[in-house]
Amino acid sequence: MPNGGGPDIDDIDDIDIDFEVGAETPSAPRGLSRLQPEEIEQLLGPDGPFASELPGFEHRLPQVEMAIAVADAFREGGEVLVEAGTGTGKTLAYLIPAVLSGQRVVISTGTKNLQEQLYYKDLPLLRKALGVPFKACLMKGRANYLCLSRYDQFAVQPSFRIFKETEHFDMLARWVPMTKTGDRAEIPGFPENVEFWGRLSAKSENCIGKECRDFDKCYVTRLRQRASESEIIIVNHHLLFADLIVREGSYGEVLPDYDFLVLDEAHQVEDVATQYFGAAVSSFRIEELAREATGAWEARSPRQRRPLEHIRVLRRVAQEFFEGYRLSKDRYRIGGDSESPRQSQAYEALRGYVERLAADLKGISEPDETTVGLTKRSADILFDLERILASSDPESVSWCEVRERSVVLRSSPINVSELVSKSLLERKRSVVMTSATLSIEGSLDYTRERLGSQPREQKVLRSPFDFSRQTVLYIPKGMPAPRDPAFLSRVAEEVLVLTKASRGRAFVLFTSFANPTELKACYGVASIIRSWCKVRCRVASSWIDFELRRARSSSPLPASGKESMWSVSSYLV
Ligand code: SF4
Repeated sequence: MPNGGGPDIDDIDDIDIDFEVGAETPSAPRGLSRLQPEEIEQLLGPDGPFASELPGFEHRLPQVEMAIAVADAFREGGEVLVEAGTGTGKTLAYLIPAVLSGQRVVISTGTKNLQEQLYYKDLPLLRKALGVPFKACLMKGRANYLCLSRYDQFAVQPSFRIFKETEHFDMLARWVPMTKTGDRAEIPGFPENVEFWGRLSAKSENCIGKECRDFDKCYVTRLRQRASESEIIIVNHHLLFADLIVREGSYGEVLPDYDFLVLDEAHQVEDVATQYFGAAVSSFRIEELAREATGAWEARSPRQRRPLEHIRVLRRVAQEFFEGYRLSKDRYRIGGDSESPRQSQAYEALRGYVERLAADLKGISEPDETTVGLTKRSADILFDLERILASSDPESVSWCEVRERSVVLRSSPINVSELVSKSLLERKRSVVMTSATLSIEGSLDYTRERLGSQPREQKVLRSPFDFSRQTVLYIPKGMPAPRDPAFLSRVAEEVLVLTKASRGRAFVLFTSFANPTELKACYGVASIIRSWCKVRCRVASSWIDFELRRARSSSPLPASGKESMWSVSSYLV
């Protein structure tokens, strides 16, 4: 069975994290003054460089119109809001002005797959077509990178909650000496939901910044250095907002200062902003703190039983506290005066033991990275809990989400428009917001209001595709339920019928590789089709994975992938 993870180890050297695009080619002048409509029209015209460099290139007026609007906004300043229907070619429409501007431009997308597509496919094309040198860098969220300090500690005495994960740790340990980037996507077959990764990743709550002895060789430090030397920086919305939040306070920001921003898949910005401007404390977050604190004490002072006893009680009171919120199966509002006396009591007990943990950690005579990090995390949890349960901000709502294995308490702003506007849009010289779906009945008012945007220009550009002639919606009848043993072969039958109808040109999308049922379905269908028809059928977990597999194979299709590849499906099909 093929693995569903990232590229093979052999491919790692082919994927350089940053590059000077076109540094060796004779350079044409760059700068904001070059962003003139005539120049954009020529570049994207039927006789322009993209027509000769891009096989199948079509001259599309909506693409030219969008690129001119972006160029105007970069040159003059201000925001521009563009809905660009599928097939407009919006990535080139904003990348060309971004590269020609000669400025540092941050491009934020909704998914890692679109990030990879921009970085590995579109930017090299711009290098060829424009013939200008520029440095670019791809940055994922911190949780994608390995924390060297935590890895070193973990590797001394690895502990696993799921026994099978020992083999995943072996994969990781083989990869660590080879990686230049620390990005987990490089590990072939490394599942998305490995439990121990959360204990080893470089996410900001785990990081103690300059106090870390591995700070200089840390992958995040090196990534930050590469970003500071780059003009085009490709991030995703989660990283963009995480960076925005931490740069207000402590260590943790990874992006250098920038004045020009492109928000692609801008329809997702409101949701991501709501998440990052809010707060969340889960039973899992406290359990993780308690588990790591136990490990730290046992490693440092195993004879000191008192702090370990405190952590044991902390675990118990945390469990009682969260169980007190299992009142309904789904989501419900909390905070303010709505807490019962029992819940308030449980909260006081929990707070007391988190404070005790922090005090025990502070009492250590020679604190190391781990104990400093745990002290900081204890304080963060107390701060967030207070904010959620006090619920004193009329602009926020506190709520509880009950899951099968955990309970999460959250506080979310009701309206992020002012926060997005003041902390992001107003601080940039120019912001481009675009997506294939931003308008409601042809109007961009709703998006503009929800993001607090005041664009100098806004456009709704229709897709050049004729959907009534070029698409078919097909809903198979009589499908068994997904848990039914017959489900996979029925899906395979349907896929085969459709693949025959399209003469082999098929791209099958599944929802998520993190969901074991979906993963099984994806591989199951591929293997049934292979055995029935003896055709080659590729499974990929991401855009880069798909491209690497395609590059190695002469057989074009069918292929299957997961949901996040929707963002590139127009290109793949
Ligand atoms: S600087 Fe932070 S992320 Fe990097 S190795 Fe140290 S603790 Fe880990």
